[in-house]
Amino acid sequence: MTRSLPTIFVSHGSPMLAVDPGATGEFWKKLGRELPQPQAVLVVSAHWTTREPTVNAPLRNETIHDFYGFPEALYRIRYDAPGAPALADRVVSLLEGVSIPVRIDAQRGLDHGAWVPLQNMYPDADLPVAQLSVQPQRDARWHLRLGQALRPLKDEGVLLLATGGAVHNLREMARDGGPTPPWAKNFDDWLAATLAAGKEKDFLDWETVAPEAQRAQPTPEHFLPIFVAYGAAGDHPKITRINQGFTLGSMSMAAYQFAA
Ligand code: ZN
Repeated sequence: MTRSLPTIFVSHGSPMLAVDPGATGEFWKKLGRELPQPQAVLVVSAHWTTREPTVNAPLRNETIHDFYGFPEALYRIRYDAPGAPALADRVVSLLEGVSIPVRIDAQRGLDHGAWVPLQNMYPDADLPVAQLSVQPQRDARWHLRLGQALRPLKDEGVLLLATGGAVHNLREMARDGGPTPPWAKNFDDWLAATLAAGKEKDFLDWETVAPEAQRAQPTPEHFLPIFVAYGAAGDHPKITRINQGFTLGSMSMAAYQFAA
């Protein structure tokens, strides 16, 4: 009998965490050690956006260095985890089962939203990994539905790892750090309080009810993965904030665990 896995949302921060992981890296390492050992990982990353849900299914994942102007050392890092074609097929059948159209991409590897946390959580790169894309033109309820359809995976040895940013505004980050601006803290605090209080409707209506929503998420793709993780855990899941804090001034590193 496989132990049921929680679902996870992490803020992946800057690609620089791949070479200088700091406290966030320690958190990811601990998370990897403490979660029940999965047989495979399904990553829902902010850095793969498509019009229709798409799941990758290569035999081996290539490491995609999808960022520009960073130090050379970052481009040499590889996390070529095995692909998970059987998991990809399972994702297709679960989504088609609720009439959500879905495609398979047999080529694509892992973007940095996936491999930066994974190289800390599972440094041996031996777990099979598949990725599912995000639809930025769709809303929170769509991504909740994706998660709900994927609910059986947590009982099949699959870790659903959603990766984005709890507060993510690249124009307003401070490269040399500094204090967290009030607007960023307000949104981050609202998210924590809303989840702690189980206010699902407010959570789903974040664009209209959360303070500073537009400034905290000027484009939605870094926030949408959290709704997949939430939906995939179960009805009214038990929610734990498992990491908090900011980097680069306004970039939240908050992470949440959802369990049935
Ligand atoms: Zn990102």
